[in-house]
Amino acid sequence: MAACATGFILNNNVLIVAGSLVGASGIILTQIMCKAMNRSLTNVLLGGFGQTVNAAAEDGPAIVIKEVGVEEAAMLFDAASSVIVVPGYGMAVAQAQHVIRELMEQCEKRNIDFKFAIHPVAGRMPGHMNVLLAEANISYDKLIEMESINDEFPSTDLVFVVGANDVVNPAARTNPQSPIYGMPILNADKARTVIVSKRSMGKGYAGVENELFGYPNCLMLFGDAKQTITKVVTEMKDMS
Ligand code: NDP
Repeated sequence: MAACATGFILNNNVLIVAGSLVGASGIILTQIMCKAMNRSLTNVLLGGFGQTVNAAAEDGPAIVIKEVGVEEAAMLFDAASSVIVVPGYGMAVAQAQHVIRELMEQCEKRNIDFKFAIHPVAGRMPGHMNVLLAEANISYDKLIEMESINDEFPSTDLVFVVGANDVVNPAARTNPQSPIYGMPILNADKARTVIVSKRSMGKGYAGVENELFGYPNCLMLFGDAKQTITKVVTEMKDMS
């Protein structure tokens, strides 16, 4: 928008056109992001999201988690007939998209139905996950938007959450005190088994605990996503 305004001052048509196009697409993307977070623009700009700690969750009972090792995780993939991967910001940090494609290839060799669930605000910009997965040559028909895939989770054997946190936090449905309450989320918690790949019990962008990590069907695979998934793929290759 600043470029557009400068174009008017300098009487430069290129700046006016380029500035308006960039400004308009920025506004459209911002609108998509606000809708996906179920928050107004004012709330996104002025709200304390990202700094607020949810007192209710912090004061609640400590989350008891179950860890899974690389070998056991590989066995769970081997035994599954359907897998949904939920990528998030941590996949981008770890640059794990290429090794996830290798995991997909191992699963498809075993005739496992393998797809990706894409939340509109996963990562740090709209379309972040789509771009990274496309870079790893994962075809677009494997990437399913939230509205289309959410009903499939209850009939899915294994959900693999890779560096995602807020976009699968059930508090968005259940805890009115939570800053993410009302944000539509991926129903990963409804799958038969969930494996979460992340480095620690660290929080996501919203800065809140995730009760999913303590659910009975949830197993934590700790470590950098690229490193741990590489090990899982190696295990799967050794099995075949
Ligand atoms: P989150 O920010 O909620 O969580 C990312 C998780 O990745 C962290 O909990 C972190 O846990 C883990 N992580 C970081 N590095 C690694 C690594 N190397 N290997 C494995 N895991 C790692 O991400 P989501 O994608 O779930 O949610 C996006 C958030 O960003 C939402 O709250 C959304 O509202 C917000 N947002 C999105 C925008 C968009 O347009 N997409 C724009 C602005 C905000 P640990 O430290 O334990 O590893």
